[in-house]
Amino acid sequence: MKVIVIGGGAAGMMAAISASRHGADVTLLEANPRLGKKLSATGNGRCNYTNLDMTLEKYRGKDPEFISEVLSGFTVPETLGFFQSLGIEPRYRESYVYPYSDQASSMVYALMDELMHQSVRVETGQKVRSVKTSGHGFTILAGEKTFICDRLILAAGSCAVPSSGSDGSGYTLSEQLGHTLIPAVPALVALKCKESFYPQLAGVRVRGEVILRINGEAAARDTGELQLVKYGISGIPVFQVSRYASYGLRDRKKVTAELSFFPDKTLEEVLSLFLSRRESLSYKETGQFFLGLLNQKLAEVLLKQSGLALHKRIGELREGELRKLAGLCTGFPTVVTGTNGFDNAQCAAGGVSTREVNPRTLESRKVPGLYFAGELLDVDGICGGYNLQWAWSSGYLAGKAAAGNRAGKDRVRKDQYDTHKSAKASRR
Ligand SMILES: Cc1cc2nc3c(=O)[nH]c(=O)nc-3n(C[C@H](O)[C@H](O)[C@H](O)COP(=O)(O)OP(=O)(O)OC[C@H]3O[C@@H](n4cnc5c(N)ncnc54)[C@H](O)[C@@H]3O)c2cc1C
Repeated sequence: MKVIVIGGGAAGMMAAISASRHGADVTLLEANPRLGKKLSATGNGRCNYTNLDMTLEKYRGKDPEFISEVLSGFTVPETLGFFQSLGIEPRYRESYVYPYSDQASSMVYALMDELMHQSVRVETGQKVRSVKTSGHGFTILAGEKTFICDRLILAAGSCAVPSSGSDGSGYTLSEQLGHTLIPAVPALVALKCKESFYPQLAGVRVRGEVILRINGEAAARDTGELQLVKYGISGIPVFQVSRYASYGLRDRKKVTAELSFFPDKTLEEVLSLFLSRRESLSYKETGQFFLGLLNQKLAEVLLKQSGLALHKRIGELREGELRKLAGLCTGFPTVVTGTNGFDNAQCAAGGVSTREVNPRTLESRKVPGLYFAGELLDVDGICGGYNLQWAWSSGYLAGKAAAGNRAGKDRVRKDQYDTHKSAKASRR
């Protein structure tokens, strides 16, 4: 079986290895001069390649059942075993898993070694321009070259960080082959906010909670280290809620956020803390109220927003004034006007509709012999190794199925899949 994989990122390299291990004659086409450019930048250069806390809530996409089926087809223990077989020992930080070397480059080199070991032909510098079905296979045009194959795996990534090579051309190729796209938006990205005080807050890092609201309704929340930047809000908790902001803004809805700088306390608990500080710090000026409690730059903005007179003695502050200040500290409102864009997004939400793809084999339901893997599909995970696990699971299954291995068992026809789905639904 001649298999071509388009895209030499995490999903494409996994798919090529898997197809070759299952007996296919494999060629991998990559636009960049080298493989795994994005992979080598992951996890701040350390590569958080999976996570032991693997639940469906960590993923977003229109079809959770699809996601669940793919992840259970090639699991986290199987992923750990696969990489150990390539020499990558895991280093655990709580549930987060990194290579013991703490170098993303070791992941890239281990995968490249295995591609060579499996005799996969790797053609770099081959940007695929068009793909057509021909007879029982595919004809692929890349640069001046034409390639033909029996089965094709599209693993060309999304449009997040186009400079890494994943410039959205995978979407175009999927459309050429008749697939439907869910519009892509930046996910895992910083948010731009309207208020003019952000330049003053730039550089502040504070543990907090962010609640993202779309037209006033809470859409997502997360807690962790918030980073305040000159144009708005950033940090892991903001990344985790950002895809909802992207879709809200795209649909021209009102997107706001509320920040709590005391994520472990209720408003009443914060008020009670403030009342006791009024006693103990009564002789100081209001401008000193947050000294030793919150970052000074943040304190200045909070006090200004509260409208309190800074030279007033703390002991003279009324309970109503302290309640207002506590309200600001636990529900600091901000208006989200935009996101930081694809150039700085760690992944894209949206992509090829999973309704048109078989979750057991990753084969297209529209074009027999065509398979998908990785971020190109309409699946995005939160930060923490979930996007790479998606690349490994989908890549492995696509490669295995494209090689034609265990065809009768794995290549489930659409009607069989639908029966399986309705049987599952009736069991619930
Ligand atoms: C800065 C950063 C840090 C991240 N850190 C983590 C992390 O620690 N953990 C985690 O789980 N996720 C992380 N992610 C997300 C993760 O890297 C991606 O989800 C994952 O790499 C997607 O893999 P992929 O193979 O689908 O796509 P990609 O890795 O983008 O690979 C697609 C490949 O296809 C090639 N290609 C595209 N179009 C064509 C074409 N027309 N012809 C030929 N080749 C083509 C591209 O050049 C590219 O090499 C991070 C992302 C970024 C940007």
